[in-house]
Amino acid sequence: MQRSRRRRIYEGKAKILFEGPEPGTLVQYFKDDATAFNNQKKGIITGKGVLNNRISEFIMERLMEIGVPTHFVRRLNMREQLVRDVEIIPVEVIVRNVAAGNFSKRFKMEEGSPLPRSIVEFCYKNDDLGDPMVTEEHITAFGWAAPEDLDDMLHLTLRTNDFLRGLFRAIGLKLVDFKLEFGRLWENEEMRIVLADEISPDSCRLWDIKTDEKLDKDRFRHDLGKVEEAYQEVARRLGVLPAAGPMDLEGPRTVQ
Ligand code: 5GP
Repeated sequence: MQRSRRRRIYEGKAKILFEGPEPGTLVQYFKDDATAFNNQKKGIITGKGVLNNRISEFIMERLMEIGVPTHFVRRLNMREQLVRDVEIIPVEVIVRNVAAGNFSKRFKMEEGSPLPRSIVEFCYKNDDLGDPMVTEEHITAFGWAAPEDLDDMLHLTLRTNDFLRGLFRAIGLKLVDFKLEFGRLWENEEMRIVLADEISPDSCRLWDIKTDEKLDKDRFRHDLGKVEEAYQEVARRLGVLPAAGPMDLEGPRTVQ
């Protein structure tokens, strides 16, 4: 199999990056593996990789249409997409529109409480440290991103939030919060900050507008049941559920 001979560049919790077909590209492979609480909880969500590949493709394409640069090039197959090889900035940018998760815990605010405005938080991407929350001071002092890079990241984050809130609202979903990652894309001598990683129910909290039903990874984190169904429902509402439906969600698997 051709896939087994490809050079594996990096393996994360939910994705594998392989060497791409052309210089400057990578193949991003979406696994069904799910982790939560800094790797303490592990499991498989059947079909998640196939659905997140499609959902992230759809969202990245819509964002590119409105001028948000991303690493996405094109989807290759059920579980893989071609992306540009960017230098990942080790900062997770989290946007919160409604209190939930870690924010609710920290401020003892009931999940679903409205916030006075959208709040942006930064975490240092480091599993050993448990992704600690940091400020712009840490980011620039430690050289993870220059102040100009951080400005670009913030601007792109707020634009993405505005756009995605509307996109999800139109299909009856509330974008409660989400996490973004950015990378540096080098073209000749020029560097641009672009959106990287993925945008999917693994990295967003999405609630049904009418019922507040959770349709995201919280169903796995908190054993709420109907986990696969939640990912399928988001894909269905976005119009990207594979035609063959849930029976066809396994797709090809990586050769280890
Ligand atoms: P919280 O800080 O409440 O755990 O997460 C806030 C939002 O960011 C949630 O939508 C969550 O899914 C996302 N998020 C935070 N950290 C991570 C992470 O390490 N990986 C992924 N995929 N999403 C994250």
